[in-house]
Amino acid sequence: MTRHFDYLSIGAGSGGIASANRAAMRGAKAAVVEANVVGGTCVNVGCVPKKVMWYGAHIAEALKYSPDYGFDITQNNFDWATLVKNREAYIQRIHASYQKGFANNNVTYIEGFARFIDPHTVEVNGEHITADHITIATGGRPSRPDIPGSEHGIDSDGFFALSKQPKKALVIGAGYIAVEIAGVLHALGTETHLLVRKDRPLRNFDQDITDMLLERMTQDKLRLHTHSNVASVEKVSDGILTVNLDNGIQFTNVDCLIWAIGREPATDKLGLAAAGVKTDADGYIRTDKYQNTNVKGIYAVGDITGEAQLTPVAVKAGRLLAERLFNPELADAHMDYSLIPTVVFSHPPIGTIGLTEHEARQKYGDEAVKVYRSGFAAMYNAVTEHRALSRFKLVCAGADEKVVGLHGIGEGMDEVLQGFAVAIKMGATKADFDNTVALHPTSAEEFVTMR
Ligand code: FAD
Ligand code: NDP
Repeated sequence: MTRHFDYLSIGAGSGGIASANRAAMRGAKAAVVEANVVGGTCVNVGCVPKKVMWYGAHIAEALKYSPDYGFDITQNNFDWATLVKNREAYIQRIHASYQKGFANNNVTYIEGFARFIDPHTVEVNGEHITADHITIATGGRPSRPDIPGSEHGIDSDGFFALSKQPKKALVIGAGYIAVEIAGVLHALGTETHLLVRKDRPLRNFDQDITDMLLERMTQDKLRLHTHSNVASVEKVSDGILTVNLDNGIQFTNVDCLIWAIGREPATDKLGLAAAGVKTDADGYIRTDKYQNTNVKGIYAVGDITGEAQLTPVAVKAGRLLAERLFNPELADAHMDYSLIPTVVFSHPPIGTIGLTEHEARQKYGDEAVKVYRSGFAAMYNAVTEHRALSRFKLVCAGADEKVVGLHGIGEGMDEVLQGFAVAIKMGATKADFDNTVALHPTSAEEFVTMR
């Protein structure tokens, strides 16, 4: 049996779904193949369940503040299983809405693992499927370290599969996932240890921001261990581990060890050699600015390309590719990978776009860079006994003080960033920020009142 399509996405994650739907909306006969569950990483084991857990943690924090707001609340219990059940039910509804979207747009959804047979053919469940245009949107998976006993730990996928709240968790890693998961577990009441191998987590972020993150972690009593490398893991009994560091320190009675040390591309079993598609040394499929791989008619979008591993990046690249291929009015459409805003759902959240101060100084020279900072206690917790600081920062360059970087850590920063990202993308200067009337009382107003 063989079916033919104009456009085929391999992978029904953020990029694959977005591009197949857009191709169909532009008149192409489109299909998407998915080996696992519709929605990919973001919906099933990424952004969505993470944000639900983060909201749960947010409520735990609000309970902490509630007495100072006059509430007399007795908290009897936190039931992890209820949160997980409602989270998964929500995800099921997202699955249903994706299927509805496919039906409305006339996209064929094919369940199964796709392998290339030649540049225009993939094999799925024994069937050969051909397409004029094939997009690889197969994303990635969590990495594991090569140390004795590492198999006793779980990764972010395993975190979302936990049916019980861990009592004592060790989170290993220093990126988005480690910081986010450690923050959630800690706020929900697990004894949480975050182990980073260098001096701090999120080393690529602006240092003023990570300084404040460290301050807030200390204030919140999250146990951060710097310069800590796991050497081995021993299983003591069912579900209980001992974790040994290379400096002799030992963590005992650990019932949850989470590896969050990065992700790797899912290209190894795709049969890329049969199609002639090249990868880089790490397995990523590098493309030109039009998402073209080295083989005509085969494209790649999303995490698999090694660009910023963010859902909106995969979605935008996928949609623009479909426009380029099937909308004659947008024949030059392509993704602009510059100035991508990003949020870390830490406690409190971090939002950032553009250059860090360090990067700006390297690029423009010290003389040309001017930095504005604001440190303040957000009203939300300033009225409580848990007063805590936020820090916002603008990095400007050149005589006209163009804003080349905007960074913040504080309550609400996750929602604040989007609007400022528009301004920065449009080339806003410090004077443009100053000319904008503030919104009061908000945290966001700090960005337009900095001196
Ligand atoms: P994926 O979403 O990974 O989709 C790839 C799909 O391809 C998968 O469903 C897979 O099963 C399928 N597949 C693989 N191989 C084959 C094959 N051979 N045949 C058929 N199907 C195949 N991003 C944000 O913007 N905000 C966040 O808050 C955020 N939080 C995250 C939290 C976590 C814990 C993680 C892990 C990621 C998070 N991300 C976040 C990143 C985001 O999830 C990814 O950038 C995004 O999902 C990438 O989309 P994609 O389409 O490239 O790949
Ligand atoms: P990251 O690449 O962000 O960070 C992993 C970090 O772990 C490395 O930078 C490194 O930091 C550290 N590390 C690497 N190897 C080891 C090791 N062997 N032992 C200990 N530490 C190690 O990966 P994540 O898995 O956190 O996330 C993957 C991507 O997913 C992110 O980059 C992001 O794009 C996306 N994501 C986005 C989110 C969002 O938008 N909110 C949320 C979650 C994920 P160092 O060198 O400092 O030790």
